[in-house]
Amino acid sequence: MRKTLLLSAAAAALLLNGTSNPASAQTRTTLDIYVVDVEGGNATLFVTPSGESLLIDTGNTGPQASVRDASRIMEAAKDAGLTQIDHLIITHWHGDHYGGMEELAKRIPIKHFIDHGPNQQPAPGPDEFLAKVYPQLIAKAKHTVAKPGDKIPIKDLDVQVVTSAGETIKTPLAGAGQPNPYCASLKPGDNNIEDPLSVGVHITFGKFRTMHLGDLTKNKEFELMCPNNRLGTVDVLLGLHHGQASSNSEVMVHALHPRVAIMNNGTRKGGEPDVMKTIHSSPGLEDLWQLHFSTLSGQEYTVPGMFIANTIDDQQPAMPVSPTPAPPPGPGATPAPIHNGTAYWIKLSAQQDGSFTVTNARNGFSKTYKAGR
Ligand SMILES: [Zn+2]
Ligand SMILES: [Zn+2]
Repeated sequence: MRKTLLLSAAAAALLLNGTSNPASAQTRTTLDIYVVDVEGGNATLFVTPSGESLLIDTGNTGPQASVRDASRIMEAAKDAGLTQIDHLIITHWHGDHYGGMEELAKRIPIKHFIDHGPNQQPAPGPDEFLAKVYPQLIAKAKHTVAKPGDKIPIKDLDVQVVTSAGETIKTPLAGAGQPNPYCASLKPGDNNIEDPLSVGVHITFGKFRTMHLGDLTKNKEFELMCPNNRLGTVDVLLGLHHGQASSNSEVMVHALHPRVAIMNNGTRKGGEPDVMKTIHSSPGLEDLWQLHFSTLSGQEYTVPGMFIANTIDDQQPAMPVSPTPAPPPGPGATPAPIHNGTAYWIKLSAQQDGSFTVTNARNGFSKTYKAGR
């Protein structure tokens, strides 16, 4: 009985793949997630078995950086066989998240734009973009202002918005809602205006569960996770606000109990010692994967190089053991190590049974995590 059902589902999927979308003529059965290196920004691409796609963020602003990051996203889109981006979430209006959008839209059609609403942190860059560029892009597509509790309709996935515009879901996700034992440990973190407004999503594919919360900060983590954990647990935690200490409280990370975390840090952004301590002491964590070695970590706090996807253009023979504190901000600060050369993604392929494989595209190192725990 069960076998017959599975077979007919597979046959139906093949039929669909063969007729509807050339991108999925390949016999993909997995949810594929490309964590693209956009130099301490965010760009995370989800591709379902039937070839439907969800992109979260588009990398950095800047004449060169936006072209570089859009091109890097396109490499992932091509690898996945995509001819369009079906859904794009811009988590919030910071330049490391919406920056490559205009360039990307020149290269591939974007069919659905999702955001938290207007920019609330006045700045010339996003304000001009939202006045002049964004209206033209969404005029030709669907546009949704996300609310907590919304579902983004994608075949084979359950994508639920859990935070947006500073609001959080009030009702726990299915199976969640237990008291969160980490709530007493909260130490409030820095906040700006836009980070706490991030659109955050919880994604389910069969038994596989993952989460991307944009740059949601500690105070909002507390609102979402206390006194009861409204999210439950996940297999994989994505993003982690570049590994910055204004997010990533134990209240969030430890309570989610991720088996794997994939950090979108830059060469000198995130991977801060306090965050690394929180992640490495997270119960049940098997591995942390990173887009970069961060000088803020030093070897003391970083993961083995085989879990790190990218080096830098002027690679040094050795990395310092001790963390190097960030220089004070301002025009005199030394620039972070540059990486404009070949970039590598971290790719995750998840099965319906909850098992998944993570691969470092730079060195080919790959690890499979069995279903269940
Ligand atoms: Zn890089
Ligand atoms: Zn950011």
